[in-house]
Amino acid sequence: MKHGNIAIFVPHIGCPCRCAFCDQHTITAQTQPTRAEDVVRICTQALAQIPDPSGTEIAFFGGSFTAIPREEMTALLKAAQPFAARCGGIRISTRPDCIDPEVLTVLRQYGVKVIELGVQSMDDAVLAANDRGHTAADVLRASRLIREAGFQLGWQIMPGLYQSTPAAEEKTMQQVLAVQPEMLRIYPVVILRGTRLAELYAAGAYVPYTMEQMLDMTAAMLLTCYRHGIPVIRCGLHASEFVERDAVGGFYHPAFRELCESRIYRREMARQLGAGQTEAVFAVCPSHLSRAAGHKRENIRFFRAQGITLRVRADADVPAYEPRLEQAPQ
Ligand code: SF4
Repeated sequence: MKHGNIAIFVPHIGCPCRCAFCDQHTITAQTQPTRAEDVVRICTQALAQIPDPSGTEIAFFGGSFTAIPREEMTALLKAAQPFAARCGGIRISTRPDCIDPEVLTVLRQYGVKVIELGVQSMDDAVLAANDRGHTAADVLRASRLIREAGFQLGWQIMPGLYQSTPAAEEKTMQQVLAVQPEMLRIYPVVILRGTRLAELYAAGAYVPYTMEQMLDMTAAMLLTCYRHGIPVIRCGLHASEFVERDAVGGFYHPAFRELCESRIYRREMARQLGAGQTEAVFAVCPSHLSRAAGHKRENIRFFRAQGITLRVRADADVPAYEPRLEQAPQ
């Protein structure tokens, strides 16, 4: 059974403020508000293509779903409900300060199963610097209410925000481990034209990490989540010509996750290699052969540039992300 989403975007509808980094019109490639009739059309078209929709969810993304004026919100849910009954339910994303017991009751009535929170950071100074309008305590409170009401909880985090630091990113990851959401999305910052972040960047007030720093940091996050059983269901913004057109900086790459997974292997292989070694064979988990070789074989090239000829071979006994050096250091 294939799992997937029927994505319905509600760009900025309900947002009580404009976060410094955000332009959902670019991210969702949609400028018009979504109405109930759009929901019916999108679901009808999508479900006609899916023979077994039981693993498919209807997903409202791109805004602050629970802050949409109530009549409008319930109209969208009502339109989705008959379709949701045929598939795996509804998921929504929203802000941590727009969750309360009453709205959770409404969501449950309409078949919502998963609630994703835009967390971004668990450092209050970073949240304030990026105009989020909520605190880390709001995130913890909303997470508790969502869990108590029986929904699955998702978190979305955004490393690399204005005034963030490696210590602040670490604080966020510690909270991810403490709360253990059922799923995590990691969206390293992309600086989009027209946002306040873009202004700060142009003025030199915001100096993002380098791509190398971000890859190292996000690779470490992915590995930590893997080891703690937290599924990372997205890493990096989805590939989009609109994001490519409007990104003026930050960390957009169409294969961002692959780059991070390659980096996990590179770091681990480098750790095992002995000084002066010129050849090495690593046994790796069979489904991770291309990750170990690197995106477009970048790990092979990286080690070759250091005078090391690297080969990887599949071995079903080797766990994921734990390459095993087979050739003794010379
Ligand atoms: S990040 Fe979320 S709350 Fe902030 S402006 Fe974007 S959609 Fe709205």
